[in-house]
Amino acid sequence: TLKEESQTLVEKDQKNIWHHMSKGDATKEPMIATEAKGSWITDHNGNEYLDGMSGLWCVNVGYGREELAQAAYDQLKEMSYTSMSQSHLPAIKLAEKLNEMLDDEYMIFYSNSGSDANEVAFKMARQYHQQNGESSRYKFISRYRAYHGGSLGALAATGQSLRKYKYEPLTSGFLHVAPPDNYRKPENQSVEEYNLLRAQEIEEKIIWEQKETIAGLIMEPVITGGGVLIPDPVYVEKVQEICNRHGVLLIMDEVICGFGRTGKTFGYMHYDVKPDIITMAKGLTSAYLPLSVTAVRKDIYEAFNDTEENSHFRHVNTFGGNPASCAVALKNIEIMEEENLTNRAAVLGEKLRDELKELENHPYVGDVRNQGFVMGIEMVEDKATKEPATDQRVSKIMGECKANGLIIGRNGDTVAGYNNILALCPPLSSTDDDLDFIVSVIKKVFKANE
Ligand code: PMP
Repeated sequence: TLKEESQTLVEKDQKNIWHHMSKGDATKEPMIATEAKGSWITDHNGNEYLDGMSGLWCVNVGYGREELAQAAYDQLKEMSYTSMSQSHLPAIKLAEKLNEMLDDEYMIFYSNSGSDANEVAFKMARQYHQQNGESSRYKFISRYRAYHGGSLGALAATGQSLRKYKYEPLTSGFLHVAPPDNYRKPENQSVEEYNLLRAQEIEEKIIWEQKETIAGLIMEPVITGGGVLIPDPVYVEKVQEICNRHGVLLIMDEVICGFGRTGKTFGYMHYDVKPDIITMAKGLTSAYLPLSVTAVRKDIYEAFNDTEENSHFRHVNTFGGNPASCAVALKNIEIMEEENLTNRAAVLGEKLRDELKELENHPYVGDVRNQGFVMGIEMVEDKATKEPATDQRVSKIMGECKANGLIIGRNGDTVAGYNNILALCPPLSSTDDDLDFIVSVIKKVFKANE
């Protein structure tokens, strides 16, 4: 019977698969997804869930898009593989398309994952400075609470201690500063003053560390996985100005924010900045196939175009720029444009905020914030002290949402005891009914937990 079949699946899963971010706890029954359409996933028991996280912040155009399956099939049939030491049509078309979407001229370097794209950015930045005769510049600055990937360099950039400390030593040369967290700013400072002070800390770091040692600064426009921390525009613009003044490359991690999520094509476009390097993954293909990009400003690329021996970028990646992935990315972007999903993100985000802002009256909710269709709900034990809500309290809300058919997320392992921010990042293709469903489940669950 179906029930027996499902039980066998669970046993086989538990016997053979070590799940991501798991303790190896074989008593925890996995959710086995069997089908997905639009914003909805069906599991092996026939339960349906609205995926309020778009997978891991990535399925922007929703599940089950025939056009994307067709694009992969057509490309695989036509020409399945060429390495990026050579070239192929989908890679060329996609690079041209991305340059249309960016507001400067960039060279497109293909890899497979967000972590890859960031590693490539670090290697390029270091070599770029060497090509310019500044080989002392090898350090990177990033922010506490941000996530930049799981490989040793990207993990070194990551500012979430729980993810890191068991895997040290990580790649050396990564320094951290605190990001602006406007909900927790000191009361005697305005948002703008506070944000400028946080930017100022970056300049101090650069000076104290010797500016001649700093290669780059990596940031997400909005820290997403680390708690949906939305900076004031003055912060991002000041950071750019500081980087420019000290010869530090600005690397923008658009792995989550890119491709419409925040209500603009790329997250940095909310601000008056032009990053030197931009990394993309997730929403680039809506996760139908793996693909990532490190986009590098032309003038940086030019530094590598030396006739000198050994001045090329010595990095290869077998699957990077896979033809089927590129074809899917192109089709994914076409869908985003045809359905105006970037604008839809802005509209849905605003509606969601209008509906959920009232949660700030709830005894355990301190702050509800969003940029486009990514939202954070910060839970606290005490609204006056802003003491973070306990793990138990946050888990209970998540569990009850799931029991009511809604998957929501929370910020990653920022630090022990500080994992109190719920995240919502549904597909940009969500319908009005989907939005109503999200709102009704969240309101119901919070009401039951007053
Ligand atoms: N950067 C950011 C901002 C991310 O959120 C992630 C993944 N959650 C990564 C990089 C790493 O991407 P990947 O898991 O594809 O390596």
